[in-house]
Amino acid sequence: MKKVIIATKNKGKAKEFQQMFAPYGYEVQTLLDLPQIEDVEETGVTFEENAILKAETVAQELRALVIADDSGLSIDALDGRPGVYSARYAGEDKSDERNMVKVLDELESVKDADRTARFHCVLAIAGPGIKTETVTGTCEGRILNEKRGDNGFGYDPIFFVPSLNKTMAQLTPEEKSSISHRGNALKQLRERISDFI
Ligand code: IMP
Repeated sequence: MKKVIIATKNKGKAKEFQQMFAPYGYEVQTLLDLPQIEDVEETGVTFEENAILKAETVAQELRALVIADDSGLSIDALDGRPGVYSARYAGEDKSDERNMVKVLDELESVKDADRTARFHCVLAIAGPGIKTETVTGTCEGRILNEKRGDNGFGYDPIFFVPSLNKTMAQLTPEEKSSISHRGNALKQLRERISDFI
């Protein structure tokens, strides 16, 4: 079976990449399977900088082709926050629940029509002897007043997708990847660099 390495320790992302690559006959290995590789500190101020940093650092350590994902939620009424700080919005002690509570508190007085938001995902692919490439995917939606649904991870329960009339957390994995920022980015990656994956 062909293998692809994804530079993430995020269980939610790992599961999505496993499901997305399975139909193409790829086994996905993540940093959860490679505990000797330390977390890469995300010092960039853009999704692109962080995705490149993660992909190149891990590719250099493993001497292999590596894909990294940097993603997050951008809320218009919060001037684009939490943005690149999505994973640690409520503090370094990461918790999806506390991040969602912080967002809901900050949006308390914002009316429905002004709660527009989008998920961003930048995928970077790096490896020995190849020029690092990036692609970007987005997904438009709106932040609800309360959580709905149990699937997915991160901010999925409060992110409403108008075209499907459901939150991300109410979608099946297949439905989510057909419209998600990560699914869209992966489609582009497949088109751009079909030689690699
Ligand atoms: P990263 O590891 O810095 O890329 O963190 C991404 C963070 O953005 C995650 O920890 C989530 O909080 C949020 N995020 C990214 N993609 C998704 C998604 O598909 N659903 C919900 N939250 C997401």
